[in-house]
This record gives sequence, structure tokens and C-alpha cells, in this order.
Amino acid sequence: MKTLIILLCCVLSWGGSPAWAQARPLEKVTLQLKWLHQFQFAGYYAAQEMGFYREAGLEVDIREALPGSDPISLVLQGQAQYGVGTSSLLLRRKQGAPVVVLGVIFQHSPLVFLARGTPEISSVHDLTGRRVMIEPLSDELLAYLRQEGVKPESLSGLDHSFDPKDLLAGRVDAISAYITDEPYFLDKARFPYLTLTPRSAGIDFYGDNLFTTEAELGRRPDRARAFLEASLKGWRYAMSHPEEIADLIIRRYGERHGRDYLLYEARQMQPLIQPDLVELGYMNPGRWHHIAATYASLGMLPEDFPLEGFLYDPKPAPPLSTNMRLVLVALGALVLIFFGVALQIARLNRRLRKSMADMTLAQARLRESESRLQQQATRDSLTGLFNRRYLDETLELEIAQARRHGHPLSVVMLDLDHFKQVNDTYGHQAGDEVLKALGAMLQEDSREGDILCRYGGEEFCLVFPNMPPAAAQARADAWRQRFAAQVHQFGDFRFQVTFSAGLASFPEHGAHRDELIERADAALYRAKHQGRNRVEVAVQEAEPGT
Ligand code: GH3
Ligand code: MG
Ligand code: MG
Repeated sequence: MKTLIILLCCVLSWGGSPAWAQARPLEKVTLQLKWLHQFQFAGYYAAQEMGFYREAGLEVDIREALPGSDPISLVLQGQAQYGVGTSSLLLRRKQGAPVVVLGVIFQHSPLVFLARGTPEISSVHDLTGRRVMIEPLSDELLAYLRQEGVKPESLSGLDHSFDPKDLLAGRVDAISAYITDEPYFLDKARFPYLTLTPRSAGIDFYGDNLFTTEAELGRRPDRARAFLEASLKGWRYAMSHPEEIADLIIRRYGERHGRDYLLYEARQMQPLIQPDLVELGYMNPGRWHHIAATYASLGMLPEDFPLEGFLYDPKPAPPLSTNMRLVLVALGALVLIFFGVALQIARLNRRLRKSMADMTLAQARLRESESRLQQQATRDSLTGLFNRRYLDETLELEIAQARRHGHPLSVVMLDLDHFKQVNDTYGHQAGDEVLKALGAMLQEDSREGDILCRYGGEEFCLVFPNMPPAAAQARADAWRQRFAAQVHQFGDFRFQVTFSAGLASFPEHGAHRDELIERADAALYRAKHQGRNRVEVAVQEAEPGT
């Protein structure tokens, strides 16, 4: 037995890396935030506090940004190796800045306009000639204005004071703002305001991204990878422990706005990060292409701007020698287990039988938890439908299948109408019940082969293999009518909810995943504009704004 223990120690200290065996000094790196310390950066604080950075061999200096400073430039100047930046990173890349996005934290951007609640302002068009404070680097708001046909120079632009009191006091008519942040102060003051979001014009950018430079990736790919992984681990922790992280922020960085504010921010961040639906850090090249295309259509970027080198491509295969070491360690461990089991057989035959039974039980549990994990990775926990990640992985394969067999395939994007109002009137929990009811209705009436997926907060994407547009439209419309007739009961409330949908089919409207989704999205946008509660089919030509 003594030999066994010695052998085990040798193998562990040679191949594994227990903390006590490898006490190497921590490497100092700096992370440049894009704003003052607040919940917006929760994951990084969590990674620091929970020791994830330390485990990765890093000592991270997390620096806040003063209003008006430019975090991307600070990273480019070498004052930090890593930074947090918006989708504007793409424009900087075009200007020659060698920035690389490591991962996406905010799946949707929180940037919006908040305007005074007055009858004269009901859309972004009404901002023409009005006093508007727009912060620097808010390209997506400029894109929003241009998309809606409003010339940015037609606004009476003012420098941003970053003080919501200016809006409260009527010194300005609208401000660019983070939906996670400024509304807190306005709600508290019971100030009536209007939210104008670029998403209403089909501009759906990524929000905060973690980025680095080509120089850092070239010199220290291992460090970049370790930093990214530890940061994402921190984010996963932070999003499931918001209260703990709010307290931590107050403890470490002072009580700038108070706990209530931090928790408000945490709640508002949930639908933008969607930690239940999308794996933290996940970036879809298709979405980046959409962002590039939006910029291109507005003349802010050339057509087909290449994304190579801009999106981080981790090299998953570790070097052969490490592989070999891992294999040898695994083999060594197996030999030791076998050796130990053999000893037990010789000495304690009866106890072995019992432990064999235990092992079978443990294996069964392991299999069960593996299949549960698999399920969690591809399913949305609220509705039980597939999640966006699953769709992203399978839709292209389905299209390839359709192409091979010469079959059609239809994609339906579906979005609940005025859902924010449902939440605001009946509560978020009632909203969740509506989402579940829709999921159940879709599932109840699905055919084998259908892929039903919750694509975002209140957006669903349905894929009907082997179904031409007319049949898919009839099906979506039957669902629409059935759902619109459904009465939802929540507490004392009884209410009805409708949805709008857009449909695009292979091969008529597109040959690839992103194209079909974009076309279905554009048709959905049209359905919304034509009054909602309807299903629109993509037109043959690309629609404006796609
Ligand atoms: P439109 O008809 O233009 O689609 O209006 P809308 O209010 O549905 O549009 P918008 O996209 O602005 O609002 C979507 C709302 O969906 C906002 C968000 O609070 C809500 N939402 C997103 N995810 C969830 C969720 O998981 N549960 C609940 N209850 N609400 C959610
Ligand atoms: Mg929506
Ligand atoms: Mg909606």
C-alpha cells in the first residue's frame, strides 16, 4: 500500500498541477473597464474575488474608466492588456487598430435614447432639432438615427454630462443612456420618459465585449486564453450570485450608488446577457457579419469588411507533449486503480463485491448527470424548447440536408407583441408564464423534425424542414390565431397576448443560415410595422434595412 501511495504522489506531481506543487509567482495584467465600477463588470470582480484569476496564474488590476476617456486607446497604448469595449471595436479595427474580440458578454447592447415623456416626442424622428446629449463612441445610436432617416447633425447635440439630473431638470430633451443604469434614477424620481432603442429599427449590436490586441495574443496566447476563461468563469458566478457581487462591489469599490441600484442593474442585465440561453462569452460570427453589414449600409464601414483576425480563434489542441503527458497520467491513474482493486480482491473479497455495486451505482448517476448536462446545454430552462446555441449549430446542417435532397425548408422568426407592456402591467412572472404557454402550444402541435427554439428573450425561431413557404405560412398563421385566442390567467388578471412572425424559406429567400434568419427577421420587422399580430413572408429581393 505504501508503494501505491508513493507511486500516486509521483504521478500527480509529474503530470497534474495541484496548487501546492506549483507555487509560481502570479503574472500582473491590467483590465481596462469602459466605465466606472458598477455591476456592468460584475464577472471580473467575481473572477478576482473567487480566486479564478489567481488559479489561472494571474494578478489582475481592474481599472475603471473615467467618463469621456477612451478605453480602447488605453489598451492600444499598452496601458492595459485587456479591455471592455462595445461593437465600435469593429470600426476601430477598420481604422487600423489591431484589436481582437475575445468573447461577448452582453448579447444585446444596452445603449438607448431616453427622452422626456411629452406628447411632442413619440419617436426618434421627433428628436430633430432637440437638445440631445450623445456620449462618444455610441456608433450604434448614430446607426439607429441614420437607419430611421434622421441626420445626426439635425439634432442639437450637446456634450454628455452623464448626469440624469439634466434630463430631470429639463435642461435637455433626450440623452443617450444605458438601459441598465439611468432609468433607475428616472424611475426613482417618478419622471415620465420614453425609451428609444436601436433594436426597434433592426439594429441589434453586441454590447460589452472582452477584447485584447494582436500583440498580446501573438506574444502570450496562453495568457489570453487563461484570462478569458477565468473571466467567463467569473461571469457565470456573478450572474447567478448577484446579491453577493453587489455587496462585494460596495465593499471593494465604495458605495457610489448603493445596493438597490446595483441590484437594479443586475436585473436589467439578465435579458441583455441571457445567461440561461446563451453560453457566456459565446460569439456568433453571423451576428458580427450583421453588425458589419449594418455599419456598411450606413457608410460607416466598407462592404464585406473582413472579420479574419478580429474574432478570437482559440486553438483548442494543446501541444502534443502536453497531450502525451495527459494520456500517460490517465494511464498511470488507471494502472494504480487496477492495482488497488487487485489488492482489495486478494484481501477483502466481500468488500470488493460491495464496492463494485457502488461503482455501478456511481456510473449510473454519472450517466444520468451527463445526459442532464447535455440537455441543459441545448435546452432553454424556462420553455423546454431548444436554445439559440443549438439552433446555431444545427440550422446549417438542416439546410445542407435540404440541399442534398432537393427539399425546401422554412424558417419562422416569431416575436411577442408589446411584451414589455405585459411585463410592466402584470409583472415579470406573468410574462414568464406567457412564454411557457407559447412554448407548450408550439410543442404540443409540432411534427417530427421541427426545430422549435427560444431564440432570445421573447423571440422564437422555428425551423420546418421539408416545408415550402405557403405551407409554413399557413402553419404559422394557425398558431398565431390559436395563441391570440388563448386567455392567460395570472392571479386576478386575465389577458391575451399576440405575436408577429416573419418567414423565409430555402431556397427562395436564401441559401445559408444567416441569410435565412436575416430575411425572416426583416419580414418580422415588416409584420411589426404593419400593425403586429400577423405573419409576413420574405420578399424575393432583399428588403431595405437587412
Ligand atoms: P414589440 O411588439 O415591438 O416586439 O414590443 P415588445 O415590448 O415586445 O418589444 P421589446 O423587444 O422592446 O421588449 C421585449 C421585452 O421582453 C422586454 C423584456 O423585458 C421582455 N423579456 C425578455 N426576456 C424575458 C423573459 O425571460 N421573461 C419575461 N417575463 N420577459 C422577458
Ligand atoms: Mg423582441
Ligand atoms: Mg416583442
